Amino acid sequence: MSHVRNTGAMQASLRCGARTRAGGSCRAPALRGKMRCRMHGGAWGSGAPDGNSNALKHGYFTSEAIEERKFVRTILAEAESLLCQLPAQESANPRKSGTQLTPERNSPSRT
Ligand SMILES: [Zn+2]
Repeated sequence: MSHVRNTGAMQASLRCGARTRAGGSCRAPALRGKMRCRMHGGAWGSGAPDGNSNALKHGYFTSEAIEERKFVRTILAEAESLLCQLPAQESANPRKSGTQLTPERNSPSRT
């Protein structure tokens, strides 16, 4: 009785590729969701925890802090572009220069 093994999917799976002591690359299949096999760092529970909490010292590079800084930058860029679109009324006043938003500029009661 002849039995043809269907190993195409197994052979097409992602390989580990870690450098071995013999100089070649590891040919074991990489674990699901990982880039390495069970012997080269892909085992369950190995590697750094999610969010890199082991290296957390001051929280400056957490995803929340990075998103907050990005949000502040976009707000500042929008405000700057909005200020550039305003008509230049500061040029009549020799005391001030640039596009600074001052209270006397927005108060129509003084004029
Ligand atoms: Zn490996």
